Amino acid sequence: MKNKANVVIIGGGIIGCSIAYYLAKYGVEDIVIIEKEYPAAGSTGRCGAGVRHQWGLEMNCLLAKDSIREFERLHEEIPTEFDIQFKQKGYLMLAYSDRVVEQYKKNIALQRSLGIDVKLLSPQEAKEIVPHLNIDGLLAATYCPKDGHINPFLANLVYAIGAQRLGVKIYKYTEVIDVEVLKGRVTAVITTKGKIKTNYLINAAGPYAQFVAKMVGIELPVYSERHQILVTQPVKEIQDPMVISLEYGFYCQQVPHGSFIMGFGDPNELKGTDISSTANFLEEMAHKVIPVLPVLKNIKVLRQWAGLYNMTPDAQPILGNTEEVENFYLANGFSGHGFMIAPAVAKLTAKMITNKPLDIDIKVLSLKRFKEGRLIREPSVV
Ligand code: FAD
Repeated sequence: MKNKANVVIIGGGIIGCSIAYYLAKYGVEDIVIIEKEYPAAGSTGRCGAGVRHQWGLEMNCLLAKDSIREFERLHEEIPTEFDIQFKQKGYLMLAYSDRVVEQYKKNIALQRSLGIDVKLLSPQEAKEIVPHLNIDGLLAATYCPKDGHINPFLANLVYAIGAQRLGVKIYKYTEVIDVEVLKGRVTAVITTKGKIKTNYLINAAGPYAQFVAKMVGIELPVYSERHQILVTQPVKEIQDPMVISLEYGFYCQQVPHGSFIMGFGDPNELKGTDISSTANFLEEMAHKVIPVLPVLKNIKVLRQWAGLYNMTPDAQPILGNTEEVENFYLANGFSGHGFMIAPAVAKLTAKMITNKPLDIDIKVLSLKRFKEGRLIREPSVV
């Protein structure tokens, strides 16, 4: 293993690998990714991998829009033998209350002003898109045909390949166990396989970000939270878009090989890094999804698993360097939407480090917003 690098990135998930790719593309040499398991072993490989433009804040719409454009052209950007299976058949977002309908109307006005093709639908129009949708109680829905689903393992892998082609070294099964800091600068990381001196350190450790920050002497206001998810047996293609309900808190999509993947946000989920699965999740999932998509009543569940959200107090990420340790950069706290904004986050992080102008204003995502009480309010988090 090298004992010196210009940039060390901790974490080989979609965030770490895509940041490494863009840094190398912008001309930065001598980059190393340290990954305690293998790329996509963390939240990325465990996620629902839905991608949507439909957000309620301009910054999030722009991050998603730019990222989706990058996913659409990923094969051109990084040609490989792998197809990331981008099924772009839309997200149908359901609204069951006047409050959510009003919010969606505001979201749509914003999204359209940013050039995003999105429509407000009546329940009957929603049913034309998903014929098996039970529209009892439904007031309206929004639909963006360019939203969709990607294979997260392959997207992560393609960025890892792209980074390696540009000279990035990925050390798998190697854990960072400590960080040396001298006079307000990171000087080296200590790993299970030796020490690497470095000029820059990037925390892309996903649900372990708080432990890495602690090694640097920084308390991140984040915690990890278990989220459970399941996959069914494959069946014939019956549902094009991802169906999502903020009120029921669930998402449900049919992936290209025919399986349905679904999960929901449970406010009582375990905090910490436990990723065991529960029978209770299966039962509650069925109670949430079957009234809305009754066709799924007899479908067989093949497998369930769990992964971790890395949560901030406002469920929005923390990006940029820290005041206390200026060569320590954060790309953490992505809650349930870090996969879909990874390409834009990666480009912006690489631009910050290489002092390039930022095309999306992400200053509000700095760590100091929590100290200054400037929390962000994104109304469309599931
Ligand atoms: P990770 O993929 O977890 O990568 C971090 C890596 O760091 C890991 O591989 C880990 O092994 C490594 N690491 C940690 N500590 C160390 C250390 N000390 N030394 C070396 N390596 C270390 N997002 C969406 O956009 N759309 C969705 O539909 C979606 N659905 C989700 C569903 C579920 C059930 C879950 C759990 C998450 C979902 N997410 C979704 C969120 C998304 O998965 C994450 O935001 C995203 O994958 C974060 O990527 P990451 O690279 O930061 O983290």
